[in-house]
Amino acid sequence: MEERVVSAEEQRYEDSLDQQVRPQQIEQYIGQEKVKQNLNVFMAAAKMREECLDHVLLYGPPGLGKTTLSAIIASEMGVNMRTTSGPAIERPGDLAAILSGLEPGDVLFIDEIHRLNRMVEEVLYPAMEDFCLDIVIGKGPTARSVRLDLPPFTLVGATTRAGMLSAPLRDRFGVMARLEYYTESELTQIIRRTAEIFQANIDEEAAVEIARRSRGTPRIANRLLRRVRDFAQVQGMVRFHWQ
Ligand code: ADP
Repeated sequence: MEERVVSAEEQRYEDSLDQQVRPQQIEQYIGQEKVKQNLNVFMAAAKMREECLDHVLLYGPPGLGKTTLSAIIASEMGVNMRTTSGPAIERPGDLAAILSGLEPGDVLFIDEIHRLNRMVEEVLYPAMEDFCLDIVIGKGPTARSVRLDLPPFTLVGATTRAGMLSAPLRDRFGVMARLEYYTESELTQIIRRTAEIFQANIDEEAAVEIARRSRGTPRIANRLLRRVRDFAQVQGMVRFHWQ
């Protein structure tokens, strides 16, 4: 019999914890100072012009905060975020359905955007550039193309493999931001913030020790903190006090 390492129950619990610790506002998003500074300017400018933000490509290794940043962009711009991923959009019709369901100004977040197939990408080009959909009705000699208008929207694409994006798709992003690995001191701040949300007191020294083992990645830092918290709760570690 196949051994199940992570149960569905445990996964749901981990996901709900993840939601609790995810920063909601840009001030809570620690590190990535250059990216934040630039985005703040672009968002302020778009708001002043009452336009939606230009399409944004976020790239960098997993767990560095691309999804989180996209949600922050949506909340800072005062719009909703629709989330999907490259492999989830199998046919052009799937993308057309998502695009035509957007409200004006919405953020459409496409994770793993390098995994979109070519036919779907073709639908995305006019949508990104002119906010319209070209739909072919019928087949063979009687087929004709109809152009449908879409509400203006911001596409936020996330990828761990920017090099795998096709050039025409890459060129349609007005903003490209590379997320960097976090420094130990940034990770320590993230761990302290997460511990606070868990209502746990953590010594500076313990936070630094976890930060050191997190490979520059907030997702790993938060996961390690949760495991340390389990030990503290069950075995009562000296440096981890509970309120
Ligand atoms: P990605 O989409 O790049 O894989 P996520 O946005 O899912 O990464 O981030 C993983 C986790 O790390 C999130 O749950 C969030 O709590 C945390 N995180 C990421 N970036 C930051 C940050 N800059 N400040 C605080 N927490 C962060």
